Amino acid sequence: MIEALSHSIYRLSYDVPLSGVPPVNVYALLGERPALVDCGPAHEETFRQLQSDLESLGTRLSDLTAILLTHHHVDHAGLASRLAAESEATIYLHPDDWEIVTWTSQERAEFARELKEIVGFWGVPRMALDTVGEMLGKVLRLGGDRLVPEKLTPYPDGPFTAGELEFVAIHCPGHTKGQVCLWSREDGILFTSDHVLEDITSNPSLYIPRYRGRRCGLTDYLESLGRVAGLSAHWIFPGHGKPFRDVRGRVEAIRKAAAERKGKILSVLDGAPSTILGLTGQVWGELTPMNTFLGAREVHGHLEIMLEEGAVRLFEEEGVGLFERRQ
Ligand SMILES: [Zn+2]
Repeated sequence: MIEALSHSIYRLSYDVPLSGVPPVNVYALLGERPALVDCGPAHEETFRQLQSDLESLGTRLSDLTAILLTHHHVDHAGLASRLAAESEATIYLHPDDWEIVTWTSQERAEFARELKEIVGFWGVPRMALDTVGEMLGKVLRLGGDRLVPEKLTPYPDGPFTAGELEFVAIHCPGHTKGQVCLWSREDGILFTSDHVLEDITSNPSLYIPRYRGRRCGLTDYLESLGRVAGLSAHWIFPGHGKPFRDVRGRVEAIRKAAAERKGKILSVLDGAPSTILGLTGQVWGELTPMNTFLGAREVHGHLEIMLEEGAVRLFEEEGVGLFERRQ
């Protein structure tokens, strides 16, 4: 699907072959310096569709001068290594997100091991850990080939041009360590990627390895919302879903929902100590495995904050974390 957003900005939308993940947006910025914001998953069909969409807009892959990756997730950045081979485009990505895309298979195996340990800490039974491994394998395959660090470029500190727009990259850690939003002040356009979506609550990352001493991205995420809420944006171009207008209103709704979930977790813990998995079930009810994973990440983030605030206490039994409310 191609949607013209202006004479030089087009929203291209691609299915993501992962259950529960909505179609992802790739933005084509045309003009003297053709560029893409994100590039979609490493999936043959996506690649061919992107190629033909660009051709129908009068551009070839080899014309691209820049690929502005908003974060490292496979649905946004999976095709980057292939595009690096097909074009001379500069591939921008915040250095805090270079980890996974540049990791060797050994580093990825270490990541998988650490992830399984965390999921075990949540209270996921040992038997189900293989499912987690399979899920992760499926996700990582959509990340495409490893990108060598030499192929990546950090975003400039100041303004830069792509398509016909002048941007600054705003670092908004939380959804990932190196998540950026792209802000074109002159045109009042903010590409929020997965930092602010219109009708999906963006989920904070699990930091593997830890980032700034934390395991969860929720504290950073809530802080980073403040970096975009006050911008005078006329249009928000998100990573999934249609463009929308009211970034401030959306940020307020996200903050409110997070505060409500925090309250709910505390009230569940009033009854009895619980694991992260148990709390996820109590907060959201029955969920698919993927959504259980995403929900548990958020619960883990809230508990990390509550531990810092001294509102809860953690004790561990055979690698499983049990949280109880401090009276
Ligand atoms: Zn994402």
